[in-house]
Amino acid sequence: MAIVEDQAFVLRSLRYGETSRIVTALGRTFGKVHLIAKGARGTKSPFGASLDPFSRVQIVFYLKKSRTLHLLKAAIVEKAYERILVHPEAYYLASAALEFVQRVLPDEDPVPRVCDALERFLGGCEHANGAAGDEQRLRAFQLHVVAHLGYAPQLDRCARCGRAPQPRGGFGVSEGGLLCRRCAGGRQVLPLTDATLSMLRRAVGLRSARPAGGTSSGRSGQLTDRKELGDIVEAFLRYHVTGYQGLKSLRGFSEWRALTEDLVPGRRTSR
Ligand SMILES: [Zn+2]
Repeated sequence: MAIVEDQAFVLRSLRYGETSRIVTALGRTFGKVHLIAKGARGTKSPFGASLDPFSRVQIVFYLKKSRTLHLLKAAIVEKAYERILVHPEAYYLASAALEFVQRVLPDEDPVPRVCDALERFLGGCEHANGAAGDEQRLRAFQLHVVAHLGYAPQLDRCARCGRAPQPRGGFGVSEGGLLCRRCAGGRQVLPLTDATLSMLRRAVGLRSARPAGGTSSGRSGQLTDRKELGDIVEAFLRYHVTGYQGLKSLRGFSEWRALTEDLVPGRRTSR
């Protein structure tokens, strides 16, 4: 057993027994770890607010190689993303990102670039304003994470025949990428505009695509169709990422959007 330190993001914090919490955290050095924080719910908890989600913390814990649950010794908040807690849009998006990371990352496998991406995402959530671009950022984050796990969709050539996908036929879910029009014939494909393709390519680290006979025109950098992008990312993840069955936080986000449809200027037209 060794005492170790890590910089981490709290992904989930569950009550355990009378006074403890079980915390799942994403550490820069040790990856996703499960920690038991004894006494964390008592009135004299030594952990304070450090085990609440939406914060970056410095943790000290006893690492025991043969165990999957380690004993947390101390945790100190380095940065609290406070605006996330008071802005519903930010809260749902940040919750969805944490839930996603918590579900898809394997335990104790360091992924510092996913930590970087999560830090950027939480920082961006502090400025979420209910515009369509907020959900686009979440979808890009999801793809970015699974690309690091080796699940990137095929976006630079036809996922079936391997040739240049021109003219383009759409996004093949089971094939895991874009299809040329010949390969798409007779198959179930999702529509894929140039704007959405460019966004997907940037999310997985490819250069933006040039317009190439898509189903409608669009420039790199412009907002994608929210529904089209969401349908593609969601279908891709559900088909290819083991154990992924959607996010509870994202359902809450959709319900909140529907309730406040008329309150945010420009949202209705952006779908
Ligand atoms: Zn093809």
